[in-house]
Amino acid sequence: MNEFQQLEVTELPGHKRDIIIVGAGPAGGTAAAHLASKGHQVLFLDRSWFPRDKACGDILLGDAIRAIDRLGLSEKVRQNGFPQTSITISSPAGIECEVNPRECFSIRRSTLDGLIAREAVRRGAEFARAKVQNLRVRDDGLVECHCDGLALPLVARTVVIATGANRDLLFRLGLAARSPVDGVALRYYVKSEIETQSLIFSYDPETVPGYRWLFPMGNGEYNIGCGIVTRDFRKANLRKILDDFVTSYPAAKDVIDAKIETAPPVGAGIRCSFKGVTGNPRIPALAIGDTAGATLPLTGEGIGKAMETGEDAAEVIHEAITADQLDLLCRFPDRMHSKYRKLYRQYEWSQRWLSDRRLNNLIAGRMSKSPWLRDAVAQIADQSVNPASIFSLQGIFRSISS
Ligand SMILES: Cc1cc2nc3c(=O)[nH]c(=O)nc-3n(C[C@H](O)[C@H](O)[C@H](O)COP(=O)(O)OP(=O)(O)OC[C@H]3O[C@@H](n4cnc5c(N)ncnc54)[C@H](O)[C@@H]3O)c2cc1C
Repeated sequence: MNEFQQLEVTELPGHKRDIIIVGAGPAGGTAAAHLASKGHQVLFLDRSWFPRDKACGDILLGDAIRAIDRLGLSEKVRQNGFPQTSITISSPAGIECEVNPRECFSIRRSTLDGLIAREAVRRGAEFARAKVQNLRVRDDGLVECHCDGLALPLVARTVVIATGANRDLLFRLGLAARSPVDGVALRYYVKSEIETQSLIFSYDPETVPGYRWLFPMGNGEYNIGCGIVTRDFRKANLRKILDDFVTSYPAAKDVIDAKIETAPPVGAGIRCSFKGVTGNPRIPALAIGDTAGATLPLTGEGIGKAMETGEDAAEVIHEAITADQLDLLCRFPDRMHSKYRKLYRQYEWSQRWLSDRRLNNLIAGRMSKSPWLRDAVAQIADQSVNPASIFSLQGIFRSISS
């Protein structure tokens, strides 16, 4: 069901398009689908053939589910995903509490990203496999897109960069400095004879706010991983954190003890909080998704915001092309800042709270007693309330009195 027309870049008819999108993850695929719906000529490129794997926890929370609904893919994602009805959160001291999310799915990224890309092609976008090596703005204002194995560059009026945490192309255009990622995460798949029901988030005693996870994917399959979203991540040994988790956390140990097979771990960087990207009126290009820094601190959740920034970019590009004013694209980073800054600050703030082991344990202790607090966490996962409702003095008082 995930099949769609994919060309090798050398097979493309002609070299010129209105819009080229580099990267076909949730950000690039969503932008391609919405732009194609608005009648634009869109080519989206990825260095991999689809379906392709992507290091991820494979969890869809509220914002991702709503963006999927807006793409008209709810039914397909629900058919292919595994519904999660319970989340167990374990503090650094091992205090556990359970919350019930409004709606939450796990789905392999090879499936999810394939469904989105397929929808973009169904709406009229072209997909080609190409590794883009360089982008260059010509004197006539068009952007050249230099691909591996292609003698002449592709040419576009506008380019969208959606290459995940890799900012190399953005740097080559002068729209970002070279900068380290904000976090890293690692995961592997396990098939086990044991079936568990709850998503598990376990705060690592050594590296809070880093956490380890065990996510059931259905049919005895699990996504097991760990991640840390702070600049201190270089001090963390993710392989060791993961090994400790599966040997010491009881539910993870049970799954591993009954394992049938495991796939090798895969890791990737994460960029958060829209830091370090600028616009330039002479450069008709913009960045979305992880490239723009759209992943949320605290949780490392980025699929939903990758899709939302893909929608935002489609709107801005449509306006700019319709008005024949491509210089308007340079305002995109500011637009992202004003739309999301407050939310991301609250996530950063909450991450600071949870970095303190005592506060982290205190909140977990309160959660096991306070239905209000458990409901607030469920709403944060749904993104219907922001984390400041808990991570504030007011939140602590409220959790004590309810
Ligand atoms: C281990 C881990 C676990 C995570 N767990 C979750 C989770 O459970 N839920 C969640 O919401 N988020 C999670 N995230 C974050 C999430 O994976 C990202 O936020 C999300 O993938 C960002 O989407 P994107 O489209 O911006 O980039 P990506 O999904 O990274 O897509 C980028 C695409 O660009 C292509 N590309 C890159 N360079 C080039 C090039 N030069 N030429 C052509 N193509 C190129 C790549 O092949 C790739 O397909 C996790 C991240 C990690 C690392």
